[in-house]
Parts: sequence; structure tokens; C-alpha cells
Amino acid sequence: MTATSAAAAAYIVAALLFILSLAGLSRHETAKAGNTFGIAGMTIALAATIGLATRSLSAAGITLLAVAMIVGAVIGIWRARRVEMTGMPELIAMLHSFVGLAAVLVGWNGYLSVEARGGAQTEIAHSLLGIHSAEVVIGVFIGAVTFTGSIVAFLKLSGRIRSNPLMLPAHNVLNMAALVVFVVLTVLFVAQPNLLLLAGVTALALALGWHLVASIGGGDMPVVVSMLNSYSGWAAAASGFLLGNDLLIITGALVGSSGAYLSYIMCRAMNRSFLSVIAGGFGNEGGTAVDRDYGDHTEITAEDTAELLRDASSVVITPGYGMAVAQAQSAVAELTRKLTDRGVAVRFGIHPVAGRLPGHMNVLLAEAKVPYDIVLEMDEVNDDFDDTSVVLVIGANDTVNPAATEDPGSPIAGMPVLRVWEAENVIVFKRSMNTGYAGVQNPLFFRDNSRMLFGDARERVEDILRAL
Ligand code: NDP
Repeated sequence: MTATSAAAAAYIVAALLFILSLAGLSRHETAKAGNTFGIAGMTIALAATIGLATRSLSAAGITLLAVAMIVGAVIGIWRARRVEMTGMPELIAMLHSFVGLAAVLVGWNGYLSVEARGGAQTEIAHSLLGIHSAEVVIGVFIGAVTFTGSIVAFLKLSGRIRSNPLMLPAHNVLNMAALVVFVVLTVLFVAQPNLLLLAGVTALALALGWHLVASIGGGDMPVVVSMLNSYSGWAAAASGFLLGNDLLIITGALVGSSGAYLSYIMCRAMNRSFLSVIAGGFGNEGGTAVDRDYGDHTEITAEDTAELLRDASSVVITPGYGMAVAQAQSAVAELTRKLTDRGVAVRFGIHPVAGRLPGHMNVLLAEAKVPYDIVLEMDEVNDDFDDTSVVLVIGANDTVNPAATEDPGSPIAGMPVLRVWEAENVIVFKRSMNTGYAGVQNPLFFRDNSRMLFGDARERVEDILRAL
């Protein structure tokens, strides 16, 4: 067997492992196995690619490859060990930007090593040169959009810039115009490849990526995160075509299509169409709900909450981003065990966009060893609230905001939410009366059956545990 066919066989095995990995990651019970498949697939893919590359590389090339891998691995391990669960979304956005940048560099390298050298002197047949040029320009375009889009997402998610949408006049016309100019530049580049056209496409795509994500408001950020995930996959697939690497094409397509599907699920969860997300503006701060006077809120102590829980027959816990900030998941799991032992039926209601990452709450609860069968999705639990004694809203805000269903003027109107206010008692764990991610006031806090339990969510849950 030649080295090339051994690598091809390894690529097929790796591709199958990636598919198994995605299948595993789609369910709690199999997520760990899914991760293991992914790690195994990536190890095989790396070994095969390096093995193949080193055959045609000089000693200096191999040294460069080794140094790049060591530096990358050290930075990767350092960041992964240090990152808090709450910092995960921005880290992922940052990593997407690297995929985009890599695709831009691969595209430029493709141009410099083929078209810039006259094409004819390279191994690419003249009849295929047009296809190569199209791959270059499309790869650079997708990569550059992903690069700047991910940087803006990183800045928004990490709070370095405000998350409300930049609404330039005629911003949709600007996006459409950019796409039309891209098509024209692509046609011109394929007909007559030159540096100026490629530089033009790169600059256009960098500006478009920036504008696309800057125009999207806080409320739509979940869709943006998964959309950029999808773009990074297509950028990798484009690089795969240029590098003639089948595995990169397959992996890119898997990431691209699963990201697109996730975006669709997120859109459904937000009751938004994909096009309206791209058109931007959702989650604009300063809507009518912000300024309205909802009256006074009532506070409760941890001891009184413990009393309420002791007498409850059924409890639903709806966690949100604040549970991740407070790292309250273990204390919440302990509370669940204690209440279950006392005969209280405890379940969790998880909103699809709770936290700052798809599946954020599920990961935290799994880490704290909460049994999967009591962790329910929004639709599975929403009709049960009117039959629930106590709802514990732990660090959630936008995902339990009644204004989304009751106030058509609210910036988050139409977004499906957990109807916690239908329960007999609602206890809201948070530190202040501040708004959530979308910057919208929450009338839930002022309802007659709502009580505010102020303070860090973990400390308050531990207080309840002591009182119980
Ligand atoms: P929110 O972001 O709406 O609210 C979180 C609440 O937690 C805040 O009101 C905050 O109030 C409270 N909080 C913060 N720290 C603590 C703490 N230590 N102890 C107790 N409370 C705390 O959370 P949700 O999960 O309800 O909603 C998620 C939002 O994020 C949605 O708007 C969604 O669109 C958006 N989003 C989701 C993404 C995803 O993929 N899931 C990605 C990007 C954005 P206070 O400061 O008063 O304590």
C-alpha cells in the first residue's frame, strides 16, 4: 500500500469517526462517547496528514511544521484549561475567527503559487485553472466574512463592545450590494486573475463580515454563534478544495451543515426566520418595555424559600446564564437530591437559548451529575407550570420574560419563553434588578406570585441547603 492510499484509508476512518462523534454529541447519554470519537478521528486525521506532508517537505519545512504545532498545542491547552464555562462562547467565537483567517491565507497562498505564477508553469492543467481561481476567490470570501464576523461576535459576547445592533441606513441594501459586487469580482477574477481583484474581494468580505454581525442585536446572538460555526465549516471545506484534501472537505461540510441546522433550531427557539436574523435589529435596547413602571418587587430570604420548598409537592428549576456565572450547578444538584429525598418532584426546564451557548445549561447540569431524565426541554415543561408549587428561576432572565408573549412592543416580542409565572410561587435568584442579555426589563419580577432572592446564586442555594 502506498503512503497516499494509506492516508486515504485513514481519512475515511477519520470521517466516519467524525460522523459518529456528531451523532454521539446530539444526546446527553452519548455525549462523552461522541467526544471520544471526535478526539480519535482528529488524531488519525492529523497523523495521516502529517505523515503525507513530511514526504514532500525539506528538513526546514518539517521543523517549521513541528514548531507551529507545538506553539499551537501549548496555546490551545493553556486557553482550554483557563477558560471559565461563562467565557466559552467568546472563546469559540475567537476560534472561528482563526478558521476564517486560515481559509483566507490558504486562498491567497493558492493564488500566489498558481495564478500569480502564470498558471501554466504549475501542475494545474489550463482547463482547470478557472475552477482553481473560483476556489481561491470563494475560499477567501467565506474565510474573510467568518474572520471579521467572529471577531465582532467575540467583542460582543465578551462585553468589549455593546451588543445592540448597529443600524446603518439601508443596511440590507449594503449587504445585498456587497454580494452583487462579490459575484462581479468573482467573474472578473476567473476570467483574468490578478492581485488587485483578489485584494478587492478580501477587503469587501472583511467589511461585510464586520457589518453583518455588527447589525445583529443581542437577542439574536445565539443564532449568530451557530451561524459563524457554520461559516467556519464552509471556510474549511473551501480550503479543502484548494489543498486537494478530501478529509478537510468532508469535515468542513459536516461542521457547515450541522452549524446551519443548529442555526435553524436556534431560529425556531427565538421564533425568528433566518432572513430576519440576517436583516438584524432584534434585541434593540431602549424598547418600550425598558421604561415602563411595573410597580414594586417583593423580596424573600433563603430561610423562607426553604420553608416554601419543604411544603412543595412539585418544583421546577429554570436555570440561566447567572447559574453559570455563579457556578451554582453543584449546589443546585445537591438541592435537587435533598428535595427528591423528601418526596418533592423536582424537574428542570431548559430554554433552548439559556446561557450563552447552545446546550450551556445541559453541560453544567451534566457536570453536576443531575439525572438526565429530569432535565426537560422548554416545550416538555411549559404546559406543567400551572400545576407547579414552586419555580426556582436561577440566574435566568430573558428566557422567563412574560413581555415576550404579552407585550407586542417589547424588543423580544414573539420569542417563546418558559411560562414560569403560571406557577403558584416563583423565586427569582439574581443579584440586582438589572436586565438580562437583551437589555429588556422583566415584568415577572413585579408579579404578585414572584419573590426576589437577591445575591450570588450559589451562596443563596447553599443558604437554602443549610436551612433545609
Ligand atoms: P440572561 O442573560 O437574560 O440573564 C442572566 C441573569 O443572571 C441576569 O439578569 C443577572 O442578573 C443574573 N446573574 C448574573 N450573575 C449572577 C450570579 N452570580 N448570581 C445570580 N444571578 C446572576 O440569561 P438567560 O439565560 O435567561 O438568557 C440568555 C440570553 O443570552 C438570551 O437573551 C439569549 O438570547 C442570549 N444569548 C444566548 C446564547 C446561547 O447560545 N444560549 C448566545 C448568546 C446570547 P444580576 O446581574 O442582577 O445578577
